[in-house]
Amino acid sequence: MQPESTPATQRAVKLPSVDKLMLDPSALLLTEKYGRTRVVNEVRKLLAELRVEALSHAGAMEKAGEADISTIVSSVSERLRQADVSPLKCVYNLTGTVLHTNLGRALLPDVAVQAVMQALSSPMNLEFDLETGKRGDRDDLVEDLLCELTGAEAATVVNNNAAAVLLLLSTLAGEHHGEVIVSRGELVEIGGAFRIPDIMLRAGAKLHEIGTTNRTHLADYANAINPQTALMMKVHCSNYAISGFTKSVDLEQIAVLGRERGIPTAVDLGSGTLVDLSEYGLPREPTVRETVAAGADLVTFSGDKLLGGPQAGIIVGRADLIAKIKRNPLKRALRVGKLTLAALEPVLALYRAPEMLRDRLTTLRLLTRPRADMQQQAEQLLPLLQQALGSAYLVSAEAMLSQIGSGALPVDQLPSYGLSIRAALEHKQSNALGKLEKLLRDLPRPVLGRIAQDALWLDLRCLEAAQQPEFAQQLGLLRASHLTGGQ
Ligand SMILES: *Cc1c(COP(=O)(O)O)cnc(C)c1O
Repeated sequence: MQPESTPATQRAVKLPSVDKLMLDPSALLLTEKYGRTRVVNEVRKLLAELRVEALSHAGAMEKAGEADISTIVSSVSERLRQADVSPLKCVYNLTGTVLHTNLGRALLPDVAVQAVMQALSSPMNLEFDLETGKRGDRDDLVEDLLCELTGAEAATVVNNNAAAVLLLLSTLAGEHHGEVIVSRGELVEIGGAFRIPDIMLRAGAKLHEIGTTNRTHLADYANAINPQTALMMKVHCSNYAISGFTKSVDLEQIAVLGRERGIPTAVDLGSGTLVDLSEYGLPREPTVRETVAAGADLVTFSGDKLLGGPQAGIIVGRADLIAKIKRNPLKRALRVGKLTLAALEPVLALYRAPEMLRDRLTTLRLLTRPRADMQQQAEQLLPLLQQALGSAYLVSAEAMLSQIGSGALPVDQLPSYGLSIRAALEHKQSNALGKLEKLLRDLPRPVLGRIAQDALWLDLRCLEAAQQPEFAQQLGLLRASHLTGGQ
């Protein structure tokens, strides 16, 4: 460092040296916990900041001068502690959206959690055939199960459904810029910049739009087929509904046409459930099995939407087409890791016992929770929350509606129950709800609700009974006087 001759610098120089600080007993303790390199770096950074402060503010000069060893070491300790807090935190999802993409979608059942734990720390026969002792294919771990559950001939798994669609288009239409026929009513944007036309372009395929936004006929498909046609594709309307004067063509008819003309038919199902949800009291969704049975040559769907597993994209269908997909070099770039397969396999296996699925599959259990459960929880939690918030807010237990999320069944809502919080009259003007929302987010385990109609809604569907005590305990931390105060 260049010595300067201003009085301020002279004063700043009074800061203890790094060496001296490092000899302090509490600093030594820190080195045991964090390693000497990190502690020294943090000490240097802090001393540099104090020096700058001393140079720029007359008032701070004294502060820097005052900075004794123990205050400096304890600041360093606090900074190191904060740097070690993971940015990825567990939260309470009380938004009312069960499969919330921004909150990581499906929660996995215990069997999957255990399998992932083992896979994390042990070598596995990921691509190794224990029978022959030769190299295997990672898809083998789930392919038979997927075929059993969907009636398809073959299956493969990639990183997510977006990847599945990309890989499918690239394989069937990408190489020779083949045309893919899609109805204008199905050219959807899924969210997060995933738009069918864009994906098509990136996959090297040529989009051939047919029909109109609200109506497409079988003749539109038939008339569009030409020597460049590589594929006919249907996309499930995941996150919107077209109603009124509408017509779309049944998959069966398109598949028959495709077979007559030698063109494969693919369906992007999006959520793609493996069971008839109406048997569990939920709105109906086309199952993967039905879609395969209706004649689709390939079907793609997500692992972490209604299926209730890890993030993954699954492609099932004709053996020759799946084999071709597996040979596409992009498959190597889009493949899943061992953690995904470790989690996916036991989740799929649960589907072999559909009558037990409601208990065992977390996603289905949350989606089918009876309203009375949530109502009971709401009544238990209401006095605790009201007490924590004080008179600035009015808490009430109310019926509300949850949604499935991730684009599944966008128009159907599930009867739920929870707490709604309104600002007391005198605080209505002060963004009291926004402040409360922030306070809830600042809790050690952040609580996420949603603001609508002048209230903050905490839907209790995703707070299972086992978590309730911990949730209730944390509410005590809200008992802060600054709730409706200044900032
Ligand atoms: C959700 C969805 C996708 C994207 O799936 P991810 O698993 O999120 O990549 C693609 N198509 C449809 C129809 C979807 O609903």
